[in-house]
Amino acid sequence: MTRRYVVTHAKGIVTTSEGRALLEEAELAAIGLDAARARLLRAPSVDAAGLSLEGEPPEGFALMSLRVALGALRAADVGAVVRAAQLASFVETHGFCGRCAAPLADEPHEIARKCPACALVVYPRVTPAVIMLVRKGRRALLARNARFPVPFYSALAGFVEIGETLEETVAREVREEVGVEVANVRYFGSQPWPFPGSLMIGFTADWAGGDIQVDGTEIAEARFFDPEELPNVPPPISIARQLIDAWVDETA
Ligand SMILES: [Zn+2]
Repeated sequence: MTRRYVVTHAKGIVTTSEGRALLEEAELAAIGLDAARARLLRAPSVDAAGLSLEGEPPEGFALMSLRVALGALRAADVGAVVRAAQLASFVETHGFCGRCAAPLADEPHEIARKCPACALVVYPRVTPAVIMLVRKGRRALLARNARFPVPFYSALAGFVEIGETLEETVAREVREEVGVEVANVRYFGSQPWPFPGSLMIGFTADWAGGDIQVDGTEIAEARFFDPEELPNVPPPISIARQLIDAWVDETA
């Protein structure tokens, strides 16, 4: 397998002018980067390595934001791009040892940084977050987040706190955000979400009691929707949308 390269940038990734994200070694040279300095990404279906560009890409190349990349690229390439983005963020924020402040160095055989002075090894932090579609009969609870720039409705979501099981996070977040109790929490699927280093873990759950009362700060509005009256929902790349589509398919 020929090795390909993902070039990350403060504004996203560098692509060819046609929008191809996985670059060849000759294209790296054209950008002025050295393939020998790339870090292996250990992506499952492609031999890819990542490195970063500072400054603007030259003629023949373009910048693409990570959010656009997730929606526009082939599924096989998205995994490598997500890994490259998270790895670049990890390297950028782990220049020095958190214990003794010595400069960290890359570990050669895994995605990690090691302190040459005190031997501390640090790995990229993955922050787990749950996202859940609460069902009540054939209806499902969708909420409009107060922070969404464009008004659309999505499944509830929130970060896992220390000491919680995922099922406890689901129940707590639903209670905090809309005042509803849930039961029968079931795993749906997961999705790496590189903004910057989340892992979204999807669930469905059943309404078990309580009337919707939104918290008014994070959630602006929430209610149970019938599958026939679907409001604006997130784009197909997101696990939120996959949860919604699975519910619509099942109840339609
Ligand atoms: Zn150290």
